[in-house]
Parts: sequence; structure tokens; C-alpha cells
Amino acid sequence: MSLTGKYDPDNIFAKILRGELPCVKVYEDDIVLAFMDIFPQAPGHVLVVPREAARNALEMSDDALAAAMPRVKRIGNAVKAALAPDGIMIAQLNGAPAGQTVFHVHFHIIPRSDGAQLGLHAGGKADMDELTAQAKTIASFLD
Ligand code: AMP
Repeated sequence: MSLTGKYDPDNIFAKILRGELPCVKVYEDDIVLAFMDIFPQAPGHVLVVPREAARNALEMSDDALAAAMPRVKRIGNAVKAALAPDGIMIAQLNGAPAGQTVFHVHFHIIPRSDGAQLGLHAGGKADMDELTAQAKTIASFLD
């Protein structure tokens, strides 16, 4: 899907936001839902999904984007405190040619370690018990 087209209300993240599909939740409020990426590019890979129905960041309202970014920062800091990575990548992809695979806007928070290659985008599925433990640890730094 390129940058033109319509928002599909049945995309997988819209279903997660509506509670129709499960997720390993890290945080939620009226602006965003954050959960573990089930095909993580590194341990601790979190997705922050704004609730606004927009395909990508370029289509978000200024207000929703302005409200989402402090949440990305706060959750990024919780990942930093919980996992003490060497670095943290914050990524957001717009359109399939840019690598986007789910067409509801979201921000990736990906811990990085010195010398470790970034895992494949949407690669191998994580162990659900490990994801749940990571989510719990990260969430404990958001209290
Ligand atoms: P993007 O390619 O930027 O659209 O990112 C979509 C991300 O969603 C990828 O990193 C996938 O691993 C991840 N993903 C896909 N389905 C799910 C799901 N059901 N729960 C959690 N993460 C998912």
C-alpha cells in the first residue's frame, strides 16, 4: 500500500485497539495503546499505537500527533529503565515502500545493544511468556 488510499478500519491494530484481538499490553490511556511486538526486532520491542484512525503519521491530526509523542518518550524511558539497553531506536514507517506492513499509525521502540545486528523486520515470533514478562517489567517503570 502506497501513501495514497483509504484507512481500513479492519486492519490488525484497529482490531487490537477495539479489543477484538489480543495483545501483550504495556500501557494504555485515552491517546495510545502500547504493546509488545510479537515479531520483535530485539528483545523489548514495543509498539506505541495512537488511537486516532490514521494510516500513518503524515495523516494524523496535529493534536493527536502532539499528544502521542510524549507517550512515546515516556514509554521509551520506561524501556530504558527496565532493560538498560546501549541504545534505543524509535522508528515510524509511512507506506509499504518504506517498510510499513500494518496500516494504522504506530511507533516502534526498539532497544539496541552494542555490536548486535537489528533483527529482521516482522521476523520470528517471540515466546509469549517472555513477552509478558518484558511487558510487566517495562510497565513497572511507568507507575
Ligand atoms: P510496520 O511494518 O512498521 O507496519 O510494523 C508493524 C509491526 O507490527 C511489525 O514489527 C510486526 O512485527 C508487528 N505486528 C504484526 N502483527 C502484530 C500483532 N498481532 N501483535 C503485535 N505486533 C504485531
